[in-house]
Amino acid sequence: MTVTTVMRSRDPGSKRMFEIVFLGTGGSIPTDNRNHPAIAIRHEGTVLIFDTGEDVQRQFIRARLGLNAPMAIFITHIHADHVIGLPGLILRMSLLGRRRPLQIFGPRELVDYVRLIRSSIGLGTTFETTVYGVKEGKLLERRGLSVEAFRVEHRGPALGYSVTFRRLTGRFHPERAEALGVPRGPLWGRLASGESIIVNGKTIRPLDVCDPPPPPLKIVYSGDTRPCDTLRRAAKNADVLISEAMYTSDRLDLAEERGHMTAREAARLAREANVKTLILTHYSPRYELEMGMPILEEARTEFDNVILARDLMRVTVRRSGIKVTEPATARGNGGSGDKTLRQHGS
Ligand SMILES: [Zn+2]
Ligand SMILES: [Zn+2]
Repeated sequence: MTVTTVMRSRDPGSKRMFEIVFLGTGGSIPTDNRNHPAIAIRHEGTVLIFDTGEDVQRQFIRARLGLNAPMAIFITHIHADHVIGLPGLILRMSLLGRRRPLQIFGPRELVDYVRLIRSSIGLGTTFETTVYGVKEGKLLERRGLSVEAFRVEHRGPALGYSVTFRRLTGRFHPERAEALGVPRGPLWGRLASGESIIVNGKTIRPLDVCDPPPPPLKIVYSGDTRPCDTLRRAAKNADVLISEAMYTSDRLDLAEERGHMTAREAARLAREANVKTLILTHYSPRYELEMGMPILEEARTEFDNVILARDLMRVTVRRSGIKVTEPATARGNGGSGDKTLRQHGS
């Protein structure tokens, strides 16, 4: 890994990248430095939120994420540390006059939870909210961006999520378009964005003038879980696996009893799934004094490309690799302040 100083990403909305913003990286109990679990993944102005732990609404503001953006929320499971921030976030959106509809996905129990908080504390909204209780499968698909849920092994029903972006075409070749008689102009744009067109009665397909699409960009979030095959399969060849790592191996007994992973288990799974970068989150407060270093060090004995998530850390993910921007106060991972780590993918 090399360390370079780079400014924050200038194109968070770019089509060819994701931006991950860690809003909360704590496990069970929030600490001075770490809020309850919550992660935002941005793509082309759409914000996908994964888990909504306590105080997610203020982390949202600190991270300068817009509250009126096209958005969907995905809850991994109904344990309090992953859902108690949801009413506050919804309230804030309403008080600030959000108009766009909001979809919320999670295990079936989530539907009862949202119904109860809405009726018991009179939580009305200025926007349409739809809550879906789901088991697994594709939940959202929008212009090449998709989110899929898969079951994991925790205490009670729990999901992990896979987020992918698939470009419909590869590089556009103007000379091929010209040779086929397609005039320069909007028709080129339509072909390049994956649409077939008809010129002089002849159908021209995107692949006639473009390279095949590159493999999709993929980010997978484990939620809380023991190591399991569904996670291993979902994470196969992922650009980034965001995984919980609650304990070091000397507390394997606790990990097994409470349905969590040790750092070693998470790192092994990342290696088996051939992921490019592993980002560990949701580690126990017992490692707080050491800033989580025992977790990071143990994981690095099994897998090289591993990073410890910090609250408000931002990670941009492109085909060429990832770029990590640590928050100003963070330590560890080999970078600090406004420095940025750069790791190359394949
Ligand atoms: Zn948890
Ligand atoms: Zn849990």
